[in-house]
Amino acid sequence: MDILLVGAGLSGAVIGRALAEAGHHCRIIDSRDHIAGNCYTRRDDETGVMMHVYGPHIFHTDDEGVWDYVNRHATFMPYQNRVKTTSQGAVYSLPINLLTINQFFGQVLRPDEARDFIEAKADTSIADPQNFEEQALRFVGRELYEAFFKGYTEKQWGCSPTELPASILKRLPVRFNYDDNYFFHRFQGMPRDGYTAMVESILDHPNIEVALNTDYDPDMKADHVFWSGPLDGYFGYRLGRLGYRTLDFDAFRYDGDYQGCAVMNYGDRQVPYTRITEHKHFSPWESHQGSVCYREVSRAAGPGDIPYYPIRLVEEKSLLAQYVALAEETPGVTFVGRLGTYRYLDMDVTIREALDTAGVFLRDSAQMPTFVQAPL
Ligand SMILES: Cc1cc2nc3c(=O)[nH]c(=O)nc-3n(C[C@H](O)[C@H](O)[C@H](O)COP(=O)(O)OP(=O)(O)OC[C@H]3O[C@@H](n4cnc5c(N)ncnc54)[C@H](O)[C@@H]3O)c2cc1C
Repeated sequence: MDILLVGAGLSGAVIGRALAEAGHHCRIIDSRDHIAGNCYTRRDDETGVMMHVYGPHIFHTDDEGVWDYVNRHATFMPYQNRVKTTSQGAVYSLPINLLTINQFFGQVLRPDEARDFIEAKADTSIADPQNFEEQALRFVGRELYEAFFKGYTEKQWGCSPTELPASILKRLPVRFNYDDNYFFHRFQGMPRDGYTAMVESILDHPNIEVALNTDYDPDMKADHVFWSGPLDGYFGYRLGRLGYRTLDFDAFRYDGDYQGCAVMNYGDRQVPYTRITEHKHFSPWESHQGSVCYREVSRAAGPGDIPYYPIRLVEEKSLLAQYVALAEETPGVTFVGRLGTYRYLDMDVTIREALDTAGVFLRDSAQMPTFVQAPL
């Protein structure tokens, strides 16, 4: 069959590869001038540093099948994500751990003592937290909440934490040991030659044809379309726009080591950016004198902006339901990936879902559903 895949990010590439291997002809288009979607990496001309152009991407997963898959297409180097934060005039370790607690409160507590200490700080008068702020206060108390959650969350989401659901903070966000490895997953790493080379390898198949700088046009003919662009974009935004946060990256160069780590968060509300990322620290096996950094500012996405984080509050979900109903009436198209299903997806989940989607198609293409993963 002739398959059209809109978007040359991980979703389009992984589905395309699986269908190409099964003998289908796959045309993959992308409106951008490069492959790899938001995972796109490239070397900075001046410093030689591998840049994570659309923000830092760290690969982490518990899914062995996905880990095997990416290792077939890239050489992975060991990498652990260790984040620091500057807050109220001091630097702390994240996620909040025993070092953070001891440093912040000027204590020398052992794990059990710290647990009791934080329990005493928690606001137990909140029996049934109704929002993010109440949940945080109930878990960690006011001081830690204001230093590490309040300002950062306001900047990231552009609203008061009282307007966000309590469910964002499902578990106690504190570790009572000195483990500052951000992710719990078994497999974690960074592709030695960047994500673009990895996606290039996935796309390297004689049945795959890639067209860049190419927008989707409804006149494009195909036996089936896989759409990894924005769900509302497919319908020309005719019911309105699904809300997203976008990011502005203010890039700057530095001679030497600017901040000594890959990611430094800024918890204070009066600092306009949420974090600074220093790209060369994402490739610790390389050595560069020059450095490239991003100051990252989050704001509401307008029509011309790159949609990064779906907002998914009550209003957005009601509009989403209307687009899902419209999509269900559209034969011959399957909506996939982070934009096609309006969900935040890590790379490993994106790859798993793409492999599963291809599997469903290969079992019975005549019964291909509009969504293999339900957006709601
Ligand atoms: C700031 C940020 C940091 C992240 N960090 C991590 C991380 O550390 N670890 C992790 O696992 N994941 C991370 N992610 C998630 C990761 O970026 C996604 O999992 C991945 O990009 C999803 O791939 P995709 O193919 O579904 O979407 P995308 O990568 O967005 O690809 C969609 C493609 O479709 C194209 N397109 C859209 N509309 C059209 C059209 N009309 N015509 C033609 N082409 C079109 C776009 O140009 C784009 O290239 C992060 C995401 C963000 C936003």
